Amino acid sequence: MFRKFLDYIFKYKGNMALVLSVVAGITTIDLILPFFSRQILNVYIPSKNSSAIINGGIIFLVLIIIYTILNFTQAYLGHIWGLRIHQDMRERAFKKLQVLPFDYFDKNKVGIILSRITSDLFVTSEMIHHGLEDVLTFLLVSVVGFILLLQINVSITLLIFAFIFMQLTATALARKHMQNIFRRAREKTSTVYAKLESSISAVRLTRAFANENRELEDFQKGAKLQEKSAKQTNFALASFSAVNNFFTLLLNIVILTISGIAVIKGKINYGDLLAYIVYFNLLMTPMKLIIRSFETIQEGWVSFIRFQELIDEPEPIKNTPNAVEVKEVKGDISFDNVTFTYESGTETVLKHFNLDIPAGKMVALVGPSGVGKTTIAQLIPRFYEITSGNIYIDKIDVRDYDLRSLRENIGYVQQDVVIFWGTIKDNIEYGKLGATDLEIVSAAKHAGIHDFIMSMPDGYNTFVGERGVKLSGGQKQRISLARIFLKNPRVLILDEATSALDNLTEAVIQENIEKLTKNRTVIVVAHRLSTIQQSDEIIVLGKEGIVESGSHNELIKNEEGHYFKLYNAQFNGFIGG
Ligand code: ADP
Repeated sequence: MFRKFLDYIFKYKGNMALVLSVVAGITTIDLILPFFSRQILNVYIPSKNSSAIINGGIIFLVLIIIYTILNFTQAYLGHIWGLRIHQDMRERAFKKLQVLPFDYFDKNKVGIILSRITSDLFVTSEMIHHGLEDVLTFLLVSVVGFILLLQINVSITLLIFAFIFMQLTATALARKHMQNIFRRAREKTSTVYAKLESSISAVRLTRAFANENRELEDFQKGAKLQEKSAKQTNFALASFSAVNNFFTLLLNIVILTISGIAVIKGKINYGDLLAYIVYFNLLMTPMKLIIRSFETIQEGWVSFIRFQELIDEPEPIKNTPNAVEVKEVKGDISFDNVTFTYESGTETVLKHFNLDIPAGKMVALVGPSGVGKTTIAQLIPRFYEITSGNIYIDKIDVRDYDLRSLRENIGYVQQDVVIFWGTIKDNIEYGKLGATDLEIVSAAKHAGIHDFIMSMPDGYNTFVGERGVKLSGGQKQRISLARIFLKNPRVLILDEATSALDNLTEAVIQENIEKLTKNRTVIVVAHRLSTIQQSDEIIVLGKEGIVESGSHNELIKNEEGHYFKLYNAQFNGFIGG
């Protein structure tokens, strides 16, 4: 872990070198100043040399001006360096999210992922540059200070540094304990973020059920846990800094006592006493900074671990060594002895499942909720990896396709239509990036949405808000269909909306079904039975696998059959799915 951390530190060597040289410059001036004071006290005042004192003052002034400029440079460049590290890590995290399997998103809440990429990474980058600056200052001051003070008196210097060493050891020991507390605190903060995210996205549902109080209660519960955890963190930090301050003050007394006695015994003079006190306080500044920025360092480290966990998440194997790139598939699909269990689930959803779908046919999957209809559909574009068996498209195992070319050949219309923030044109173009305006308009016409788009003031350039709130359900459906017409895949999977209220989906699909099924293999995951009567084949699934199959007309004749029962149940008021 530490090695990976160092990689980030050294990633921007140029910025780092610049910032650390500025810090070194500042520290050098810090170290020179007390030497000057000592010189004035020990030499110039006793010899009554006023011109030397004035010259010293001028040099002092110049040094202070340089010091101020360097201070500004450190603060500015340090943050620029931190920003670059932050952006770099954020981009890596984002790239990683693009390739992570669906399992990852099943297991982790959006809010938690979000907090890892936003607040966590900010804390880490702050820690990297502030932490390093403080450590460097501390090292420089202690090494140079140690050498200079040794010149004055060896035993006093050794004694003082022994005390400092003790304090540092105590700090290091406390570190481990603090780390656990900080980790818990960050987890609780993420939970609050996760709740916030889910509440905001479900705001319509909340209002519809008038469940605002329940949402608030849930939020408060999370917030209470976070508060408790934050209290523990603050308690730990407060005791830590109090003990450290006590040690520092104690050390001041020790130095004053030891060097005071040394002055009386004539071992050192007043100037030396001053040097000891000034150097000690110089040393204490970066040390206090390190202790004060302990929170940043600890939090940053914990955040870095969480970031690294994300980066280290196993990626699905994208392409096998013999992966083939296919421009256009024919569309024969076959499941051969497929067994599948979700990583986050417990029971086996598919057991030795077999199914053949000939190219160009429309096949509907029906059956009670939870039997695995959506799962079957999601396995074709390899959204999840099967446990055993094979899924073939045109007799080639889906795992042997170049993943990109596999997904380019499959259109997947999800249950929830996703309209992202951007123009209508952007939203349709998502089906085929780089499509011409003509293609986009033609796709919109196929989906029956062109006239509506043209009736808007900005036409295709009309902005649709986040989640497409400015569009009606039917319009969103049509835009998502236009995407599919633009993509024009040989295999089309329609995962119907489960909601019985969603007549819109049904109407839109029904209206376009001929155009949709032309020249394609179509798999409809049918939660409702009214949309699928034109299917070439209806596959009825039960817990044990396929229980019945045939066309609507064939199946409906068998009054003892599953389809007949499902059909009647649905049309007599009970809605399955
Ligand atoms: P259907 O589409 O027939 O309603 P699904 O394919 O959605 O059924 O689900 C089949 C089974 O797999 C159910 O028991 C469901 O709880 C489980 N399941 C579905 N999706 C996931 C998932 N992402 N993680 C874990 N289990 C899941």
